[in-house]
Amino acid sequence: MSEVNNFKINNRTQEGDCCPECKTSWDGGDILEDATRRKDASEPMFDMSDTELIEYAEAYGWTPEDKRRWGNLIGMELSYDDPEHYDGVSYWACPECGVAWCRWTGDRTDRFVSDVKLRNLHIEGGELTKDFKLEGFDLTKEDKKHI
Ligand SMILES: [Zn+2]
Repeated sequence: MSEVNNFKINNRTQEGDCCPECKTSWDGGDILEDATRRKDASEPMFDMSDTELIEYAEAYGWTPEDKRRWGNLIGMELSYDDPEHYDGVSYWACPECGVAWCRWTGDRTDRFVSDVKLRNLHIEGGELTKDFKLEGFDLTKEDKKHI
């Protein structure tokens, strides 16, 4: 595992990346391998031919030469009344401990820790499993972010 100490959106999750605070893995795995696994598990959305699986992965930037991976980070968007509001992700938060890093500067913050803790309780009590990847605040199956 390699700790990511200054995470910015322009960086990408690499194999073995983990949180510098709590050591939770941020590596969501190879996008095509993940799609293939989900096909093998008979998930309806992944009832695709091998060619379609590759097209799906390529839609997320995966190529045979650059096998992109999912990143298990939560994209935090700030509300309109927040002085720092931006129309998009402003911080990337660890889904386990809630510590976040500014998208642009990489600066660390604890401001979302309680939000993420509440969210984790919801996930544990809900139908989601550890295989679900998270993005923003929508708890949907396709909530994944490649970064
Ligand atoms: Zn963490």
